[in-house]
Amino acid sequence: MTPSPLWTIAEDQAVTAKLAELFSFEEISRHPTYGGYGTVGSSRLNKATHDAIQQAHSLAEERFEITQGGLNGGAVATSAATHNGLGVLDTRRAGIAMTMPDAFRVVAFGMDCGAVGFIRGVEGVDNMVDHIHWVMVGAQKTQHPSTADQIYDRDYGYAYNGGGLAGASRTRWYGPPRRPLVTWAQSRYNPQNGWKP
Ligand SMILES: [Zn+2]
Repeated sequence: MTPSPLWTIAEDQAVTAKLAELFSFEEISRHPTYGGYGTVGSSRLNKATHDAIQQAHSLAEERFEITQGGLNGGAVATSAATHNGLGVLDTRRAGIAMTMPDAFRVVAFGMDCGAVGFIRGVEGVDNMVDHIHWVMVGAQKTQHPSTADQIYDRDYGYAYNGGGLAGASRTRWYGPPRRPLVTWAQSRYNPQNGWKP
């Protein structure tokens, strides 16, 4: 057997490490209404949400941390009921505050990974704490209805150019140009569809 050149090994290891990161998450519990989920720290999320958000940040070369997962009903008043189910996640940049161009970049990748990212608080865009509120596309079965509405509601849903906030004055979408809705299962960045790092 001919040994592989060193650079090939290094490249293979990088690919293997990235894929291992993406596939390491497991759903170990099950909610009767919202389905399977696992945890990162104390945040609950399902595998599609984990993999899509992980991939979007990886593509944007953005280090991030989760600030709120799902099955978190009532814990954060400003979230209303949107974190009651799954298919929802809040992230922020690890370490330093996120700038608006960084937010646009990761949100654009998110759209191609099956997740709509609502930019909150970044550079004082509103009075919320800096974060991106992610809502999974086509994931109504795993979500509280008010979460799915943030994409599909005719008045304030992303699909209709809305900003995802029911009854708010700032009701229009704010972020990179909207793209056709794709789910994580359909995403070209999903390794199950042949994507490689
Ligand atoms: Zn949120």
